[in-house]
Amino acid sequence: MEGRTGKNAVTPALYLCATPIGNLDDITLRVVNALRAVDVVYAEDTRNTARLLRHLGIEKPLLSCHEHNEAKRAEEIAAKVEQGMAVAFVSDAGMPGISDPGEKLVRACVERAVPYFVLPGPSAAVTAHVVANFGGQYRFVGFLPRASGARAKLFEVLAGCDCALVLYESPLRLSKTAGELARALGNRRAVLVRELTKLHESAVRATLAELSELYAQTPPKGECVLVVEGRSAELPNETDASELIAQLLRSGHSAKDAAREASERTGVPRNAAYAMALQLLRGAE
Ligand code: SAM
Repeated sequence: MEGRTGKNAVTPALYLCATPIGNLDDITLRVVNALRAVDVVYAEDTRNTARLLRHLGIEKPLLSCHEHNEAKRAEEIAAKVEQGMAVAFVSDAGMPGISDPGEKLVRACVERAVPYFVLPGPSAAVTAHVVANFGGQYRFVGFLPRASGARAKLFEVLAGCDCALVLYESPLRLSKTAGELARALGNRRAVLVRELTKLHESAVRATLAELSELYAQTPPKGECVLVVEGRSAELPNETDASELIAQLLRSGHSAKDAAREASERTGVPRNAAYAMALQLLRGAE
């Protein structure tokens, strides 16, 4: 089914509209037409969306729909569409449903067989992936879980991914996260993409360990996406790592230090390097 959106009319449905991630010109004509024609706009942050609507010269009733009331709003919106209304939803920035509210709205529509349309547009994840240029495929990670158990479990899965990884991260946690990723995945190449579509847009290319060090004292400014290169198509050379660890142990390094250095130099994950070091030490006893 196609969502008919024109300047003056839309079919009754929920329209999930992508909005700019910085530059206000990054909005599609279809989204503008939909916002103009719907009966009501639900927004993650009504003040933010009021500014966007003012910029577009659109006046509409605005209601909030955020992570704390999305489930309730989902029922309300579905009921409105069933009564013949056209409703728009916009998140704070970018695509609704991408690390933003939207999922529950779509689920309610699916469950109640209410029509809904996703009007595409900017998203920081896709844009950063193209900026980083680590090959055609990527895995969207979004924000990492905070709980250490869930985080470690996810790192294990990510370590096996051949494609690039796209993560959203707060600037304040960037250094710590890059360091953790270097230890769990090996010291891969990465790009820190900042402030996309805005005045101070930038991309810093370095290894994960270098990024961690670079931002340890002073966090990067603005909004950040971290793109990490996928596991190398050629698996890390474990023989090289093992030889290097043996050398380092002979020259007096501890198992921990030898594993860290070998991991950084060969790309073998640090826990695997540590296991090799322990095995070598046991063999030498
Ligand atoms: N729905 C949005 C999308 O489609 O990209 C993402 C919303 S999520 C709550 C916000 C996160 O997206 C930020 O913390 C940052 O990691 C990333 N982000 C959003 N806008 C950005 C920009 N202009 N430059 C870099 N990262 C951005």
